Amino acid sequence: MNNKTDNPTEKKLVKEILSMKKKRGAVILAHVYQPGEIQDIADFTGDSLFLSQQAAKTQAKVIVFCGVRFMAETASILSPEKIVLLPEINAGCPLADMAPSEKVKSKIKELPEAVVVSYVNSSAVVKSLSDYCCTSANAVQIAQSIPAEKEILFLPDMNLADFTAKKAKRKIIPWPGFCPTHHLLTREDVIKAKKLHPQALLLVHPECRPEVCDLADYIGSTRGIIEFASNNPAKEYIIGTELGIFHPLKKNNPNKKFFPASENMICRNMKLITLEKVLYSLQNLEPLITVPEEISKKSLKALNRMIEIT
Ligand code: SF4
Repeated sequence: MNNKTDNPTEKKLVKEILSMKKKRGAVILAHVYQPGEIQDIADFTGDSLFLSQQAAKTQAKVIVFCGVRFMAETASILSPEKIVLLPEINAGCPLADMAPSEKVKSKIKELPEAVVVSYVNSSAVVKSLSDYCCTSANAVQIAQSIPAEKEILFLPDMNLADFTAKKAKRKIIPWPGFCPTHHLLTREDVIKAKKLHPQALLLVHPECRPEVCDLADYIGSTRGIIEFASNNPAKEYIIGTELGIFHPLKKNNPNKKFFPASENMICRNMKLITLEKVLYSLQNLEPLITVPEEISKKSLKALNRMIEIT
């Protein structure tokens, strides 16, 4: 929690949120793509699996997940005894929605020998149909742990699938999904940004197109990008991921400069949560996110198989 706003309305809201949080015995999680003022009131900020794991370790009875639906579902899978709230019920993920469970089921039927690996950015039902989950940070390690002769059906992100196949040197069948926020970044955008900032290193997320990744100095998860920029001596960086990441990047590295690879890399779903909605959630204990027990148990199996490997 690190909110130091001077705005009196925001100050009042933050005060009310903190008092309500205490009353409810809640923990607030914020993904690094959330608006800055939301990240500032959170107990934990980071990427989705990290947040769910941190919340599971706490004694909190209530989790307020400032992110999108699949993230709140993962929190519920890892902490089935806790109340999980998503302050904006319409905060979905177009990437996760590109893998509807019925289509995934029929693809799995077509490929009975394939090992199914699902990126955590997928619905709880899709996770429950999978052999393994993975994150953008450990997808390569998960793929390498699967016997080389096995085919891997990787979903839902085709760009992460491509990155994983190249790095892990595995045969991967990609699901044809993509994150609209990352996929819109083109090679031309990057070349333009590099011309404007010739000294800057290019750091991108593996959800970006392969031809964008080819130009990068570093490809990694949101946490990987933050760590790379914090630990590297270079003073300037072009960032190829959602613009919310600029909040922790600038905060942690006040003497470094960060430039967006494209000003358009904004996930609208991630910006739906406001301080007012967080307060409403805590006051009313809704919108509630639950995962049916059978789906939750099967999803947990795929998540645990990933955790065992990594
Ligand atoms: S940034 Fe992409 S993957 Fe993340 S929530 Fe938005 S659409 Fe989904």
